[in-house]
Amino acid sequence: MHDAMIAVKDVTYSYGERTALDGVSFDVASGEAFALLGPNGSGKTTLFRILCTLLAPQRGSASIDGLDVVRDRAAARTRMGVVFQSPSLDIHLTVRENLIHAGQLYGLRGATLKTRVAASLDGVNLSNRASDRVKTLSGGLQRRVELAKCLLHQPKLLILDEPSTGLDPRARDEFWALLNQARAERNTTIIVTTHLLDEADACDRVAIFDRGKLVACGSPDVLKQRIGGDCLTVATADAVAFTNEIATRFSDIVCTTVNGAIRIESENAAGLATKLLREFGDRIQSVTIGRPTLHDVFIHETGHRFDEASEGAGE
Ligand code: ADP
Repeated sequence: MHDAMIAVKDVTYSYGERTALDGVSFDVASGEAFALLGPNGSGKTTLFRILCTLLAPQRGSASIDGLDVVRDRAAARTRMGVVFQSPSLDIHLTVRENLIHAGQLYGLRGATLKTRVAASLDGVNLSNRASDRVKTLSGGLQRRVELAKCLLHQPKLLILDEPSTGLDPRARDEFWALLNQARAERNTTIIVTTHLLDEADACDRVAIFDRGKLVACGSPDVLKQRIGGDCLTVATADAVAFTNEIATRFSDIVCTTVNGAIRIESENAAGLATKLLREFGDRIQSVTIGRPTLHDVFIHETGHRFDEASEGAGE
């Protein structure tokens, strides 16, 4: 018996001396939308490739629907539809021809193939473009054809690598509406890699990666609640010196300097802002207060900003 659609246990992977994944463990339940969120170089693509059975973990294990991605590779593949970041369509063929070829590779033939192609096209609202050559479609519509292709064999799991890359906001919303439709109709599990905080925020749960390590995992709301208050950002000319001054004056305030600004998590951010303005008004350029975001969760867990490149970590 297995409850998880994806089970990742202690997965570790290095490219030579460079550690891309370090002891990563998490589960994804059937029907969940799950995001692997992290900045560039945090290990998302390496994990994506392991889950798609393209790389074997060097330590630990990963399974899809109870099937080990190494031992049961072929069977695990039948459970998943994969949308890669780079296009995998023949742009000179029509939309329908692309799907027919893909369906044949999945072993579909005759009437079943015809029905599945029609259902997949319908599922991504592209029935009216079936006879058009792919090269005449916009980037957003081409991405939908990619999705139709991987829905052909009715997989239990969709794995997508940075699905929003290159899509404008509208095409992105439309694409997610289709993913959620697949989820609603067939309880399809969806796992995406992303470096977009708002894309992760819309998922049921998110695993946050930094430098090959899983630094937090949970629903976006629960992760934000862990901060236990609001976030105060203070802009000033010399953040490092000012941070020390605040710490000396108020021993109960924990400040961090992030990208030239001072960041403070507080249960009473408004009261604290007033206090700081009263004490240090002439030194403060601005104070902003915000409800915690996933970016705050990232800073809380790692001590640095999301957009600070983590390339080279683990060396
Ligand atoms: P992400 O998808 O989050 O950008 P990756 O999994 O691509 O992260 O990379 C994780 C780490 O592994 C990075 O430090 C990256 O430079 C390194 N890496 C990725 N692929 C290779 C490779 N083929 N050879 C050497 N190092 C690699």
